[in-house]
Amino acid sequence: MLFKMLILAAIIAGVYYFFIKAKPSTKPDEETLVECEKCHTFVSSKEAIIKDGKYYCSKECAGVK
Ligand SMILES: [Zn+2]
Repeated sequence: MLFKMLILAAIIAGVYYFFIKAKPSTKPDEETLVECEKCHTFVSSKEAIIKDGKYYCSKECAGVK
């Protein structure tokens, strides 16, 4: 009885681990959030502006005109 419960727990843990682990790797470009260096707003890496190796949410924060 205890042995069956351990196997069941291992399967559930394995499925949980698989889904948590698999989620970010499916859409790395769209799902990656980066923090704005200035106002600390989280934006997707696609929309973020990269300046001097740092991420910014907008041109205003990056100091680009
Ligand atoms: Zn910002």
